[in-house]
Amino acid sequence: MRLSRYFLPVLKETPAEAQIVSHRYMLRAGMIKQQSAGIYSWLPLGLKVLKKIEDIVHEEQQRAGHIPVLMPTVQSADLWRESGRYDAYGDEMLRISDRQGREMLYGPTNEEMITDIFRSHVNSYKDLPLTLYHIQWKFRDEMRPRFGVMRGREFLMKDGYNFDLTKEDALHAYNRHLVTYLRTYERMGLQAIPMRADGGPIGGDYTHEFLVLAETGESEVFYDSDITDLSFGDRDVDFDDHAACQAVLEEFTSRYARTDETHDDAIFAEVPEERRRTARGIEVGQIFYFGTKYSETMGATVQGPDGKPVPVHMGSHGIGVSRLLGAIIEASHDENGIIWPEGVTPFHCGIVNLKQGDEAADGACDSLYKSLTALGLEPLYDDRSERAGAKFATMDLIGLPWRITVGPRGLKNGVVELTSRRTGESEELPPEEAVLKIAQIYGKAAS
Ligand code: ATP
Ligand code: MG
Repeated sequence: MRLSRYFLPVLKETPAEAQIVSHRYMLRAGMIKQQSAGIYSWLPLGLKVLKKIEDIVHEEQQRAGHIPVLMPTVQSADLWRESGRYDAYGDEMLRISDRQGREMLYGPTNEEMITDIFRSHVNSYKDLPLTLYHIQWKFRDEMRPRFGVMRGREFLMKDGYNFDLTKEDALHAYNRHLVTYLRTYERMGLQAIPMRADGGPIGGDYTHEFLVLAETGESEVFYDSDITDLSFGDRDVDFDDHAACQAVLEEFTSRYARTDETHDDAIFAEVPEERRRTARGIEVGQIFYFGTKYSETMGATVQGPDGKPVPVHMGSHGIGVSRLLGAIIEASHDENGIIWPEGVTPFHCGIVNLKQGDEAADGACDSLYKSLTALGLEPLYDDRSERAGAKFATMDLIGLPWRITVGPRGLKNGVVELTSRRTGESEELPPEEAVLKIAQIYGKAAS
């Protein structure tokens, strides 16, 4: 993309309403525009990152054998009456009526609807296990929408639902989700720690929230610092192997890590003092096993091996897709702007032409642009007739991890400059080598 033809409405001033850095940078970098409290338009740069995050979530869900569907945003109140949640949900639910006066709502989540789909089409235990998921907009009329996309009213969520014959199988689905989530967040350059959470009215130990440590997080968390040494890496877990998934769960949840809802001072005191940490965290996901709560009230049964109908065991598993943009920025930025991890960056690299209109510089930039594009990479070429300083400031603000700077002086010596946004380190090298290096970083073979 050439910047001169793009739509990147960068703000010079720091917006007064933004209290935290991610919100500030998302507004300044022209990624979002607020339309009402907690409701945003996604401008091109923001949308690109949102799509990258969605792509990673889809890939990791499907790697585990979970099947994508797409349910509507508007749901019928009757469905929610069946589970008893229409009244229980309270003011967070946006209730609407259509022209016939039928009661509808903008879905805050989809347990009821997925259970309805399941009971309509699945009759036998032979069709289990089954996990369906979607990535869809939700609406929750939050009391205090704030921090930009972090606590919106309209927000994008991946929500997945498993259906299993037995509790044991459903707990395997729970473990499998934990494994996929660890991998998902790591691909986004994030460390998200699974913490024991509150099971709410349903109770039980089977819920974990995933938290990214950040001073601006809304949750207070307590953990054993050893947990931050863990990383999932590129291990290849067999998702059909119950023991293997269980082992990952044990590895990642055996140390103390809890939110304030489940925190227990006495147990925490057993962690050696020098490893006890109290911090703040951003909740970027939650997994939950809730047994037969919905299948019993809504009649989602299958014929078991003995021919008798049995209610299925279910769980639901959510990732805050749009919140993740904020969480990633909170975890990765400096005083000049965002620093995107390679896995989610909107463009793979920037190209800055120091002297637009100079024949050699323009030619070199065009040729870099073509070579990178041919490799399946997406560069953002700043081809505006702006001062170098202004171009650098824009690139720093929008946070592309790599920048190639091209000027007539360097070109006389046959070199361009390749700069890492994260370290600020630069090296001079011939243009072809800069392309090669970027291709290697993103795992694209240069022929
Ligand atoms: P919270 O405690 O932050 O209100 P929740 O526990 O009610 O969230 P879940 O129902 O577990 O949320 O939803 C799954 C994920 O969706 C959460 O982990 C979070 O990342 C994201 N999410 C929830 N509410 C919002 C919101 N208002 N804005 C943006 N993302 C949200
Ligand atoms: Mg939650």
